[in-house]
Amino acid sequence: MKVFKFGGASVKDAEGVRNLSTILKQYSNEYPVVIVSAMGKTTNALEVIAHNVLYNKTELEASIQVVETYHNTIVSELFLNVNHPVFSIVNDLLADLRTILQTNVSTNYNFVYDQIIGFGELLSTTIVSEYLNQFGVENIWLDVRNHIKTDVNYRRANVDWEITEQLIKPLKHNHSIVVTQGFLGSDTKNTTTLGREGSDYTAAIFAYCLDAESVTIWKDVPGVLNADPRYFKEAQLLEQLSYTEAIELAFYGASVIHPKTLQPLQKKGITLYVKSFLNPKAKGTKVNADLGITPKVPCYIVKKQEILICISSLDFSYIVEENISDIFSVLHRFKMKVNLIQNSAISFSICVEDIFNNLEHVLEYFRVSYKVSYVSNVSLYTVRHYNTDATNSITKNKDILLQQRTQDTLQIVTK
Ligand code: ADP
Ligand code: ASP
Ligand code: MG
Repeated sequence: MKVFKFGGASVKDAEGVRNLSTILKQYSNEYPVVIVSAMGKTTNALEVIAHNVLYNKTELEASIQVVETYHNTIVSELFLNVNHPVFSIVNDLLADLRTILQTNVSTNYNFVYDQIIGFGELLSTTIVSEYLNQFGVENIWLDVRNHIKTDVNYRRANVDWEITEQLIKPLKHNHSIVVTQGFLGSDTKNTTTLGREGSDYTAAIFAYCLDAESVTIWKDVPGVLNADPRYFKEAQLLEQLSYTEAIELAFYGASVIHPKTLQPLQKKGITLYVKSFLNPKAKGTKVNADLGITPKVPCYIVKKQEILICISSLDFSYIVEENISDIFSVLHRFKMKVNLIQNSAISFSICVEDIFNNLEHVLEYFRVSYKVSYVSNVSLYTVRHYNTDATNSITKNKDILLQQRTQDTLQIVTK
């Protein structure tokens, strides 16, 4: 059994949906499970709606219309018969979204966010599933919230593996393609999400529970490259990677694979392919055990909009275990993602990502007990398998705020 995942870029317009259908037609006898993300940048657009409703913004109506118009345009390009049921299903979903916005009384940002944000995937999978049927690729649309069960940690929910496995396993015997949503799950009553870009992880969850033979994630790039082609013009394709290498790349922020994706696959030895939806015949990247890295070249990862915080004691005393534990409990409480740590006798530096907009709270806590300085908008460069040329190319003409090396990995924070 194969699991496929198509990301937002692959279904960003009507042409994308047609292309996906052409790819799937070739696999229709194998009954793959197909995980689809929200179309294009819909999740960002829904984030704007969530913000507008929670802060009572007058722009709310306009932001809803952006999402409605975008999907209605794609549907009308794909379905020429105006009586096709897809029109009413999509309309109903959009109406449900409006109802949630009008009736919401909760002020719990993360909860409300998840109730709104899930419409991206519900809409995309409905459109894709209906189009596939029209195109002659028979399939079943599945509400993933009935199969992936999580805790109530809205916006970054944790999967209950035991129940999820029980609910997914029966799909093994399906004799049809299954189309379902990435990124979503549910607690006992409500929609939850697995973290931004979490659809890759959904594919891994299905593959794990189904003992699938492979997962293929279809991307707008030829596979995993040794750098993000948006920032490094000469990025090269990595043909083969071990799970460990891929985990390291994802961990340091190579956004082509969601970091949680690899561990479930590694546990069961399920092969991951990263392939281009623009060139589906090309080999792409294969990830499995013991593959090392081919070709063995330096790999570059950049994370932008990081914050470098430097903490020292008020009385020049040493920063010891107790302080470090105190610092981390604050970072954990405010869900700050720590990407780099460096300590000396009297100071402690951390490079963090402020996904939940909590910087001010964190600084407030730190300032009670420490002297604190910070620089925002810094970039964190990581080079795996660095050599002299790679180091020079990364450090050239940059104002380096911090540098750290291990045998395999070089990390640099620059302004
Ligand atoms: P989707 O959400 O459509 O599945 P993403 O946009 O999340 O796809 O991921 C694909 C993008 O990841 C590429 O367009 C590329 O800019 C970026 N990217 C970052 N690092 C790498 C890398 N090492 N190799 C390939 N692509 C990368
Ligand atoms: N649609 C979600 C996002 O944009 C999940 C995903 O695409 O993986 O974050
Ligand atoms: Mg994505």
